[in-house]
Amino acid sequence: MQKILITGAAGQLGIELINALIPVYGAENILATDINPDAASKFSDTNFLSVNAMDADYLDKIVNEYKIDQVYHLAAILSANGEQNPLATWEVNMKSLLIVLELARKYKLKVFWPSSIAVFGRGTQRQNTPQNPGTIPNTVYGISKQAGEQWCNYYAEKFNVDVRSIRYPGLISYSSPPGGGTTDYAVDIFHKAVCNQNYECFLSEETRLPMMYMPDAVRATLELMQSDFKKIKTRTSYNISGISFTPAELFREIKKHLPEFQISYRPDFRQNIANTWPESIDDSIARIEWGWKPKYDLSKMTLNMLKNINKKRNRQGSSNLLISIL
Ligand code: NAD
Repeated sequence: MQKILITGAAGQLGIELINALIPVYGAENILATDINPDAASKFSDTNFLSVNAMDADYLDKIVNEYKIDQVYHLAAILSANGEQNPLATWEVNMKSLLIVLELARKYKLKVFWPSSIAVFGRGTQRQNTPQNPGTIPNTVYGISKQAGEQWCNYYAEKFNVDVRSIRYPGLISYSSPPGGGTTDYAVDIFHKAVCNQNYECFLSEETRLPMMYMPDAVRATLELMQSDFKKIKTRTSYNISGISFTPAELFREIKKHLPEFQISYRPDFRQNIANTWPESIDDSIARIEWGWKPKYDLSKMTLNMLKNINKKRNRQGSSNLLISIL
């Protein structure tokens, strides 16, 4: 059985990905790691170690001792948080990736590393953004993901490292909070709605961005990692598409279930980031090469989010939601 190491495991993606990896590989074969030592309580089924992904020696020791076969390298500083401290963001995002790629070369590890739609920017066609457009990213996060893609491709071509990557759109999930990205509004809005509170959105109402419901993102990740080696011809990172919508469209969809819900708009610095990102993504290469296909549309995702956040609040004894459909 393959042994799997996850870095940045305590984040929005890591928690959900691990829940999907456990049934496939067995909890005993999964090692969750994160720089945050307090995250141990989130991992009752798997082993957990507090690890800084920039600590090359410690990671080497772990890979060796636990006889790791695959690494899901998720540790990163995201787009909005990254702008608060650009140099530290570059350091974390790039240094940790290069450490993981070197370990992959040394120990013949298979690697998953997420890229992002933040690689796109000025000069990029914003509708149906193709796989390889010209682009000048306007965040340090985007620059680090763009450079990271080139490093992945380099290690794949020069050293035959089996590294695979997806350019995730904004990820929407109910079980773990978002980690400081430009698309976080699309999670925050649901929590306000379910708490019968109004929502003030930090993007303008017509800002269309590509998003994806977490179950689709997790499935895409597993499908990519389980695909036959020969099918994976793109070693930078794959465009994948889920749902594209604006804050106003999401608001209207939520309002169908919660008619009292109200929204207001107060764009902040994240608007400038969003303005350079694609509105929709052309993912035809991922569809052709490894059969990617999303399952969730806006209405299915909205209903599922409301149901699950409400359920969670019910379990905590704090739900006051009156939605007959739920
Ligand atoms: P997150 O911010 O929720 O989680 C990141 C985790 O990394 C945190 O638990 C943090 O403690 C940890 N971390 C930070 N620095 C570390 C270090 N030096 N060593 C070890 N751990 C460290 O982010 P996420 O949403 O879970 O994103 C995971 C990956 O997916 C990232 O690479 C991100 O760029 C990518 N991604 C996410 C989205 C999204 O919408 N969430 C979209 C595109 C790409």
